[in-house]
Amino acid sequence: MKILIANIGSTSLKWRLFDFSNSAEKLLHKGGFERVTDYPKAIEDCLAQLREAGHIQSERDLAAVGFKTVIAKDVTGCVRLDDRVLAAMEAYNGLAPAHNPPYITGIRLFGQRLPGVPLIGLFETAFYQFAPPAMMRYGVPQAWHDIGVRRWGFHGASHKFIAERSAQLLGRDDIARRAQNLYVDGGATVVNQAALRVISCHLGGSSSITGIRNGVAIGNSLGMSPQSGLPHNNRVGDLDAEALPYAVKTLGISVEEAQRQLSKEGGLKGLSGVSNDIRDIQEAAAKGNVNAQLSIDVFVSEARRWIGGYFFQLNGADALVFTAGIGENRAELRAAICADLDQLGIVLDPVKNAAVRAAEGVISAEHSRVKVLVIPTNEELVVARESKRLIEARP
Ligand code: AMP
Repeated sequence: MKILIANIGSTSLKWRLFDFSNSAEKLLHKGGFERVTDYPKAIEDCLAQLREAGHIQSERDLAAVGFKTVIAKDVTGCVRLDDRVLAAMEAYNGLAPAHNPPYITGIRLFGQRLPGVPLIGLFETAFYQFAPPAMMRYGVPQAWHDIGVRRWGFHGASHKFIAERSAQLLGRDDIARRAQNLYVDGGATVVNQAALRVISCHLGGSSSITGIRNGVAIGNSLGMSPQSGLPHNNRVGDLDAEALPYAVKTLGISVEEAQRQLSKEGGLKGLSGVSNDIRDIQEAAAKGNVNAQLSIDVFVSEARRWIGGYFFQLNGADALVFTAGIGENRAELRAAICADLDQLGIVLDPVKNAAVRAAEGVISAEHSRVKVLVIPTNEELVVARESKRLIEARP
């Protein structure tokens, strides 16, 4: 069974092709295009690459195309992307303006090009559907909550992968299975099990932190939109609700221009004035650029704020996990985030930390009560697994 996972940006198309034949999980092919101006052609070229590589003879060899969809009104989990679901995504375009519109367009184009192939979405919000309600509310009137002004949480595929893999690495296959079957079995409290407490730090172009108890998320630093939580590469992160009207009035700019600045000129880019890429920022900081250093310090401080919150909510942690571009590659930032936490039982081994890059590994000291792990994420595999499960249950 071959399942194509398509990652759609406003000007990019990336894909991975998985083969689940003979109960294996094999990545057959991955590729992508940046600066896409003609999306139908990009889809055509993707299919041509899969044919030329000999992975498919025709599109009829695809059992499904899966998408890491972001958010929809009254829909979450893993679902067929029919007209009803696309309309529900459209209804929440305002909550994810950078993500939902290109996904809806891309999914429609895949549907036109591959009429017989099931299109399946795993929503990024799915992992938080079992989180305690108190962790997902804002202090807003009911009418605001009812139109979607609440914490939703995102990066669900990535944090779910970390929930599964960290449990395996910690010798808790029971919890790994539970995390894997979460969308079938539900998130009911498990009794008679020692709790496994994991804090997952997805730090990349977009960053979020999640607390996970026994494979089930208790919340996520991303709130109503992917604009919130930690500062992102060029998106603002958490901001006081009064800031937007104040800046609009005081700077004499429109609400739309303020939103553009917060989503394109904010975050690490806005703070540093250097770049949206942490590598450039670190280079500038090393040469003495004060704002570059400040942006790193803010990022580290916000990461510690969220880790600390989940540490408290979970009554400690068995593991702290770093993943995504920054989490997997930047040992200096991992060290800064974990600095001076020995009283909480978090102690890195500097040699191990420096040695682990874009690979799985333990980076904590032997005597660290909390294991600190680096786990490369695999969001596409999570989407492919759930897509497979859905078409097997309802072909
Ligand atoms: P992601 O969103 O997970 O693809 O992460 C991308 C971000 O990770 C980039 O914006 C970089 O700031 C950061 N990064 C740091 N080091 C590396 C690296 N060696 N390779 C890729 N990304 C890196």
